[in-house]
Amino acid sequence: MRPEAPLPASGLPTVVIAGRPNVGKSTLYNRLTGRRNALVADFPGVTRDRKEGEALMRGRTIRLIDTAGLEEAAPDSLFGRMQNSSALAVQQADLILFCIDARAGITPADQHFATWLRRQNRKVLLVANKAEGRAGAASAMEAFSLGLGTPIGISAEHGEGISDLMTEIVDALPQGILPPVAEEKPVKKKEKPKAPVEETVSFATLTGEADEIPEEFEEEAVFIEDETEEPGVLKIAFVGRPNAGKSTLMNRLLGEERMITGPEPGLTRDSIAVLLRDEHGEVQIVDTAGLRKKARVEEHLEKMSTSATIEALKRAEVVVLVIDATLGLHEQDLQIARLIEREGRACVLALNKWDAVEDRTATRQAIYDRLQTSLAQMKGIEVVSFSGKTGAGVQKLLPAVRHAAEIWNSRVPTGELNRWFDMMLERHAPPLVQGRRLKLRYITQVKSRPPTFLVFGTRAEQLPDDYKRYLVNGLRETFGLTGVPIRLQLRGTK
Ligand code: GDP
Ligand code: GDP
Repeated sequence: MRPEAPLPASGLPTVVIAGRPNVGKSTLYNRLTGRRNALVADFPGVTRDRKEGEALMRGRTIRLIDTAGLEEAAPDSLFGRMQNSSALAVQQADLILFCIDARAGITPADQHFATWLRRQNRKVLLVANKAEGRAGAASAMEAFSLGLGTPIGISAEHGEGISDLMTEIVDALPQGILPPVAEEKPVKKKEKPKAPVEETVSFATLTGEADEIPEEFEEEAVFIEDETEEPGVLKIAFVGRPNAGKSTLMNRLLGEERMITGPEPGLTRDSIAVLLRDEHGEVQIVDTAGLRKKARVEEHLEKMSTSATIEALKRAEVVVLVIDATLGLHEQDLQIARLIEREGRACVLALNKWDAVEDRTATRQAIYDRLQTSLAQMKGIEVVSFSGKTGAGVQKLLPAVRHAAEIWNSRVPTGELNRWFDMMLERHAPPLVQGRRLKLRYITQVKSRPPTFLVFGTRAEQLPDDYKRYLVNGLRETFGLTGVPIRLQLRGTK
């Protein structure tokens, strides 16, 4: 096999992950890059096999090369490998992360590799992987004998010690070649949305039922088209408490190769559009910042940033609220659900870690009960259960997301709406307010995304909350507006 041509110079400090097969190089690579590389497949010089990417460490962008990706192209012997791509990458590196498996201890292949590496005269950090929960402490002593310095214990798979490793990497690189600390770039915002365009749409246009339009309401009852979102690819965000499994789920969805990626016009390199694709089409994940964040997993676990959650919510059309089903529905989950409702987004509730749930029937029932009592406004919300880890059931997610989007976008014809309205008023008349009867006259939907209704009537603005709830619940049940917030506006008339 011909040695691979040198990778194109990027001007960035280059760190190469090396070691014998199976020590966890690829896992570490994914951990350090936050799998950003998997998201940049369309950039020139970056191939799909994830052997090169960029990682953000302590604010510095660093070029990372995974020699496991290079090994695949090389003959299956250590010697062969070292003659080829891996060796070349190592020789060009500013720093080498030499990985060993702390559980397996030092093997002859490790020793062989270490000897070769010492001769290359490159800077090396010795990384003892698979050291979660202090596993492999014994082999750490043994690892000193490799003559490559103090081993740094990490668990690439569990995200332990990654933050410290990043610090060591940045400290080990020559100061002169480090790029400046990058500002945390917020995802580039779209241009300020234009004011909603009010087109005067009469009831007739909406419903085709000309005889039902009362003239007096015609002027105000306009359906406002929401132009703030360009139509096309559905935008979704994953939110939830730390450890609910969002990253695992996203990686699962992305890893199944249903994704196509690439820079979109107007997006910076940092905010790459990530598209999930199945047989029914595409959806776009808007919170790729969350993916990038994974590279700094410890910080991510420490606190859930509410502002980041809200930012993601604002940019999404459908929000997937991911919960750890083994823990049930917690107050914090409900708080996030209330944020979703406040922002007017459609929501799908994802019961993750379903593989680890023992009594599924009881768990589901407990969650439904909690929803019923604490989240009336999300009544009928689409609930899907799956395991992001094993992948079992994740295929149910996108159909549920699409269904929620459809409801969020839906319009109820005014004729139908008013027939229902008359029935509701007859069944349960609006109450007296200060001894005077409220007279409700008409209802029309003025907006979707989320469905928004305008009620006209004498002193309508004084309508008590419980009557509003009665109407909203009726709208939800009769027109199937489940899992989306419903807005009710009131307009007093003479
Ligand atoms: P590579 O051949 O060196 O790229 O190794 P991989 O990244 O493919 O990992 C080899 C195996 O080790 C996989 O089954 C990983 O799931 C597992 N692995 C990787 N990192 C860890 C870790 O930190 N702890 C444990 N227990 N297993 C790990
Ligand atoms: P995030 O903080 O929401 O991004 O959560 P992570 O994706 O980092 O997952 C947190 C922990 O839950 C990790 O240890 C995962 O391995 C574990 N996890 C994630 N999804 C599942 C799942 O479906 N089943 C099980 N049993 N564990 C999971």
